[in-house]
Amino acid sequence: MDFKEHIAIVEDWPKEGIKFKDITPLMDNGKAFKAAVDEIVEYAKSRDIDLVVGPEARGFIVGCPVSYALEIGFAPVRKEGKLPRETIKMDYGLEYGKDVLTIHKDAIKPGQRVLIIDDLLATGGTIDATIKLVEELGGVVAGCAFLIELTYLNGREKLEGHDVLTLMQY
Ligand code: 5GP
Repeated sequence: MDFKEHIAIVEDWPKEGIKFKDITPLMDNGKAFKAAVDEIVEYAKSRDIDLVVGPEARGFIVGCPVSYALEIGFAPVRKEGKLPRETIKMDYGLEYGKDVLTIHKDAIKPGQRVLIIDDLLATGGTIDATIKLVEELGGVVAGCAFLIELTYLNGREKLEGHDVLTLMQY
């Protein structure tokens, strides 16, 4: 399936010069969204995954159906102050600024094989911080999956040594 048919490119959003890749048309098309999720599910099966971890907010949208299909858990990574129980945190640089990501301290059991899922890999800052959170809790990052990769931002360099699946490249 040509998933790119279902991505809207929004010029100058959220800032001038950014060509934002909007995944909501893909989500709106049940068959295309299922096909995309199914590809990640097949990848997860090949990597022997115990747990899915996804950063807010679009990592939830793509990650949760994968964890549901595999009957394994999903652990959310969120901005500071959003998770209700004890967390660990990590600073990170975004394509458009700086922030802090957190995860519940008991979200991962040591040795669990984790698949990290987000909608899009840009500079890799978000996923790099998420990997550090998973590893600090003793998880093994067994793979990283994204709908979209912006290859010109070289995010893959931050993921060196990790297995990466992306369904579309720009
Ligand atoms: P990175 O940390 O790799 O620079 O940026 C990736 C994060 O920013 C992802 O969580 C993603 O949701 C968001 N992001 C950055 N640019 C875009 C974009 O063009 N489209 C979408 N859907 N998300 C983006």
